[in-house]
Amino acid sequence: MDANQVGFVHELTWEDIQTLLDNAITIKPKRQMSVQFSGGEPTISPYFLDAVSYARKVGYTSVQAATNGIEFAKSPEFCRKAADAGLRYAYLQFDGIGNAANSHRKVGNLFDVKLRAIENLYNNGVDIVPVITLINGINNEQVGRVIQFALDNPKRIPFLSFQPVSFTGRDEAVTDERRMAQRYTLAHLAHDVKNQTGLGEPARDWFPLSFISTFSDWSDLVHGPEHQWGQLSCGCHPNCGVGMAVMVDKQTGESAPVTSFWNADQLAKDVARVNDAARGKWLSIIGMALATARNYDPFKSPTHFKLTDLMKKLDKTFGATGKNYGKVGADRTIQDIEKRRQDRWNFLLIAGMWFQDLFNYDFRRTEQCIIPYATQEGEISFCAYNTGIGWRNIIEKMHMTATLTKWYEEHGRHEIFAGGKKVAMQSAEHSMVLRDGIITTEVQHDLDKLGIAKNSGEEKLRARAAKIKQDEENARMAKLYRQHVLKEQPTPDLVPLGSIQLAPKPAPKPAPVERVEEREEVGSFGD
Ligand code: SF4
Repeated sequence: MDANQVGFVHELTWEDIQTLLDNAITIKPKRQMSVQFSGGEPTISPYFLDAVSYARKVGYTSVQAATNGIEFAKSPEFCRKAADAGLRYAYLQFDGIGNAANSHRKVGNLFDVKLRAIENLYNNGVDIVPVITLINGINNEQVGRVIQFALDNPKRIPFLSFQPVSFTGRDEAVTDERRMAQRYTLAHLAHDVKNQTGLGEPARDWFPLSFISTFSDWSDLVHGPEHQWGQLSCGCHPNCGVGMAVMVDKQTGESAPVTSFWNADQLAKDVARVNDAARGKWLSIIGMALATARNYDPFKSPTHFKLTDLMKKLDKTFGATGKNYGKVGADRTIQDIEKRRQDRWNFLLIAGMWFQDLFNYDFRRTEQCIIPYATQEGEISFCAYNTGIGWRNIIEKMHMTATLTKWYEEHGRHEIFAGGKKVAMQSAEHSMVLRDGIITTEVQHDLDKLGIAKNSGEEKLRARAAKIKQDEENARMAKLYRQHVLKEQPTPDLVPLGSIQLAPKPAPKPAPVERVEEREEVGSFGD
């Protein structure tokens, strides 16, 4: 929550952080768990590195941070410390390609910051997931550019997370007109990807995220009931999340949707049969290999891709055979990270999660939520926390740390980037491929052309101006009504006392001068 907006600060203590992490990891049955630190901006918390390290120590396999990237861009040293502490993914706020596409965040060089953050993070072994909030008419033209950027940099970008706008918080009172213009659904995403990049068929290549459950069930079967951790299973509602996987050749840049050469519908049915048979580790692995071979079409895959590459990918993802592709556990080293990165093929997942708002709220989605938000009062669905009744507001108020004034008195203000201020970086150099054609040089103007407000601030200003205009019109009509219908004599407009200005003091009279009367005599009446 924006502390400047609500007027108070809600900060977790170190004990709070430990308790939240301990509570989530002890849930039975024990599953592999990811944890994501969010904010505000988590990297400016004094506990950030300790929290990453603690999460890793207690058993979270994937420790992530949702970040604007500023601290990571400023300091390679900070990236190294975060990587050493166990940070695996940076979910990097990423609104588009070029500073113009990021200019609504009011930081002068924000895209340069993102590039530098990717450089520093990658060099230190942290993987990057660009997170793109999509608003129709504001930045939906960026979909194709961001995907092209990922395809051009397959070693650096393994995952794209698109998040269509949800109207919550200060946007909750959005007008129907703005919602209709800005609303962006997962179906829009699938079609924009095809229209802007030519990649994928919406009805063939996009699947609910929960599609992965068939494969995680298989993985649990292969690892057996004695395995310490179960596979992370994703069971969210189909309206919450969808994705398309693209196989990218890191050497040639060639790419193809995985489901264009791997018949996913039939594959899922085949794997479900293998799971239902429950024949133990090696027969289940053979079953998966047969199902894969049966549904694979080598003529539609990228030129250098082979069936064995697909089997290796599955094995690497689920650790079925026990072959060492580079460890991912708490004891992984930079050598493990490099080993995993040597794979020629990038399995680029293009995913979308459409967070809920009051317009599309669905309790069934909340029941199946896979993003529990950890709070001092327990865990709650991310959407339930941020939408509607305002659980976030209630819980943060219950556990308020200090008023904003008191907080600033005691801690001072952290550096604020606004009004086009640039982030000072040691260097802006990067080794990303950035083709000219995808760099945005001016903001998207669709809503300006339609005359529709772009955000809640603009909407409020317009509403105020419209009210003033309407009040004036009402007063004018009332006056006409009194005059012409009620036949009231027009009264002179009252002048408010406050607006009367005192007459200036008369200047001192000049001394009288003897003058000759020059007035012309005119005759009196009757002359
Ligand atoms: S946070 Fe939960 S309820 Fe909200 S869109 Fe994601 S999975 Fe669905």
